[in-house]
Amino acid sequence: MTASKRERDVNTLCSFLNFNTTWEADMGDDFLRYRRAWQENTRHKTLTRFPMHLDFDLTNACTLACPFCPRTQLVRQGRYPGTYRMPFEVYEKALREGAEKGLLAINLNAGGEPLLHPDLPRMVKLAADLGILDIMLHTSAVHLDEAMARSLIEGGLTKLIISFDSPIPEHYEQLRKNARFDAVVANINRAIDLKKELRSLTPFIRINMVQMKENHHERQQMIDFWRERIDGLGFLEYINYYQWDDRDRYVHPVRYQEDFVCEKPWQRLGIAHDGRIKFCHLDDLDEVTLGTIIDTPIEEAWQGAQMQAYRELQQQGRIREIDLCSRCSTPMMPEEP
Ligand code: SF4
Repeated sequence: MTASKRERDVNTLCSFLNFNTTWEADMGDDFLRYRRAWQENTRHKTLTRFPMHLDFDLTNACTLACPFCPRTQLVRQGRYPGTYRMPFEVYEKALREGAEKGLLAINLNAGGEPLLHPDLPRMVKLAADLGILDIMLHTSAVHLDEAMARSLIEGGLTKLIISFDSPIPEHYEQLRKNARFDAVVANINRAIDLKKELRSLTPFIRINMVQMKENHHERQQMIDFWRERIDGLGFLEYINYYQWDDRDRYVHPVRYQEDFVCEKPWQRLGIAHDGRIKFCHLDDLDEVTLGTIIDTPIEEAWQGAQMQAYRELQQQGRIREIDLCSRCSTPMMPEEP
């Protein structure tokens, strides 16, 4: 099988159902150009001057303990590094460099709950003021109270992606341990109403469901539960990151694809809470870093010899020679039928 087939296969791990089908066009020409550039650069492995996207690890704090989450596994294994928060100055330095050099999109979370960062509203607003086209975050919505929802909508968040894994209250509370179903649904509904009241096109509100053995049969119920209220639904296949989870939750059997080519080294870099530049945002323990924004421009790290070597190994089908990638679960693909 060719590498290009493997690249396409990664998309089978997630599928999206958009109810608001005109949203991208409604966002205007600049947004549409960005989406086209993203797709074209990814497809052709075009190296841009600056990463198109940065993932900011604002905090690893979280009040939940979802059994399938890598953070929960780290806590269980006694390897949780203690709670951290990215200082506003670190965020601002990276963001300003990006805004000058072509950064298009940012995501404001990694392994924690971004709504627990006290500076989140002004971080979103700064990104919008600097002209970043796509400003997104993933949240459980547990802490999405009215003030937070208002500040995110008014600040210019473009995508609010909410993790919500079951439409059945008891089941949801087992999978999203410590969250209360009724309270979270109320938070989401209030944010939807507020967006309407403010006549705001943004954020696009998407609910993501991680599909596992435990819940994949609830897919249609999820659609029925949410379709009238939100902009889209995402169905993500469960991934056992770095094989930290000791339960087998895969719906379909998977195996590591040796000829997998990951698209991320042509799209994005991560920024750790302390300003280290991360090769991959999925590197929860910050094992592979390319310097720190204090002494290395992100542009230099992106175009530097280390990144270039990683890209070449990927394209040559030698992904296993990158230690982090050899332990990553992204190349785990469903078995051939
Ligand atoms: S660690 Fe995983 S997600 Fe990150 S670049 Fe390697 S294969 Fe891709």
